[in-house]
Amino acid sequence: MNLSKKLIEASLYEKINLTNDEQNVIYQILDNNLNGVTEYYDTFCPYCKLSTTFRLNLKHQVKSDNRLIFSLYNSMEKQYFLISYECSRNSSHTLLLTIKVYKEAIEKVGQSPSRANLDKNKFKKYSKVIDSEMHSELTRAIGLFSHGVGIGSFVYLRRIIERLVFKAFEKAKVDNPSIEKDFLNKRFTEKISALKDYLPSTLFENPKIYSILSKGIHELTERECLEYFNIIELAIELILDDELTKFENEIKKENLGKKLNSILSLD
Ligand SMILES: [Zn+2]
Repeated sequence: MNLSKKLIEASLYEKINLTNDEQNVIYQILDNNLNGVTEYYDTFCPYCKLSTTFRLNLKHQVKSDNRLIFSLYNSMEKQYFLISYECSRNSSHTLLLTIKVYKEAIEKVGQSPSRANLDKNKFKKYSKVIDSEMHSELTRAIGLFSHGVGIGSFVYLRRIIERLVFKAFEKAKVDNPSIEKDFLNKRFTEKISALKDYLPSTLFENPKIYSILSKGIHELTERECLEYFNIIELAIELILDDELTKFENEIKKENLGKKLNSILSLD
């Protein structure tokens, strides 16, 4: 079940629609009985500063606090409750969510540590392939998104993806100078198509990413930007993963070359 991912990655105050299965998990959490369902989220722990799995822990649901919250807010339409996760490396490291329940939807009204704090470390691994400016823009995009700022956060992601596309263009130009012709006048999606051999195939195979990117920033609504944020963030991660693999392979090749040279020079 991917409910935890959906909850932890959602922005605050956004209505999250639930499937029947997801609704059942919510009821099971409220009922303090998960019935064999496991809920977890793989991320970085800001306390351990290492990658970890946060597991939903009903044992740690603060029953008395829940009752307190219920007594303050409980009404026919809305209920508030806490969901608590613990880090598998150290059970005193917790991830807490405050959720408001509607009939078929929920709204996240609080989270600690914040999504930006969890993701800040996630992007550290890309420091070999992105500069500090891009790293801080990525963190800013997630910070804005996690507070429900749609267009603002999306502008940052578009900016990052455009810069990555231009980086690919610079590489393509070295191999094939003719690509430069008319490149700057092309629409954004045409630019991506022209760089097919230099960008991850997932960008082309996923029509949704493609159609979101083909829309101008002025055509998108606040709601659409929030809705598409996670998909575009994933596209950026795919490009960066690709770059990181290439970078690491180059280093390995270089090291192999050095080792072979030193063996040959011994002869
Ligand atoms: Zn931890």
